[in-house]
Amino acid sequence: MRLGVDLGGTKIEIVAIDGSGGERFRHRVATPQGDYEATLDAIATLVRETERSLGVAQGSCTIGVGTPGSLSAATGLLRNSNSVCLNGHPFKRDLEARVAREIRMSNDANCFAVSEAQDGAAAGAHVVLGVILGTGVGGGIVVDGVPLDGHNGIAGEWGHNPLPWPRDDERPGAACYCGREGCIETFVSGPAFERDHLARTGRDTSRIAWYECLAHWKAAVFLENMWKRFLAGDRDDDFARAMEAGVPAKLAAAEAAAARDDAAR
Ligand SMILES: [Zn+2]
Repeated sequence: MRLGVDLGGTKIEIVAIDGSGGERFRHRVATPQGDYEATLDAIATLVRETERSLGVAQGSCTIGVGTPGSLSAATGLLRNSNSVCLNGHPFKRDLEARVAREIRMSNDANCFAVSEAQDGAAAGAHVVLGVILGTGVGGGIVVDGVPLDGHNGIAGEWGHNPLPWPRDDERPGAACYCGREGCIETFVSGPAFERDHLARTGRDTSRIAWYECLAHWKAAVFLENMWKRFLAGDRDDDFARAMEAGVPAKLAAAEAAAARDDAAR
């Protein structure tokens, strides 16, 4: 059995994959904030509990871990992680000591790109660029199924390059946490989209209720699916709960408000 661990800034998720690639177990916990030792302990606990849940011997599963940042080939220390408490520590060695076995570890964007190249959106492609847009902007390059690391382990990381062909009003660009200005990440990340939205519409998306955000993007699909299931007589528990919570009504109202806003603009 193989265990995959996704270490993120807000959550740690583990998945167990059997010999035929089928998912056997999945669980996530909150990432201890700013605490290196507690982060190691949380992952070791997840591994232990997963092996117990699967009914396999402790220590029998192989483990792969995707982390933010990358391990320095020269020192074995983790660097460039946005979970800064991990930086400067021999994270792989310390985790191996905790789980009492050798593990595989790689940058999370590279893991994502390999996964998409293997059996995802880019299956069968010779060269794959996997792009991640979230709080930050990352990516990975995979050639014939193998990730390119590059000398510094950041091949495919395109977020902190300058915006190509900037217009005059896009120079020098917003300050970036990396110390430069006008990085791609300051234009096309979640926070950058929020800033852009605020500048153009005067509406602060951080204060828009979740169902209003959903309304902009998902309400039509969501309601259509719900309605089809309702007509088909598929009144399962999820649907009943959603109806009780009034979610479709909230979505519909928010969608109507968003449409009015758009029309008024
Ligand atoms: Zn930057």
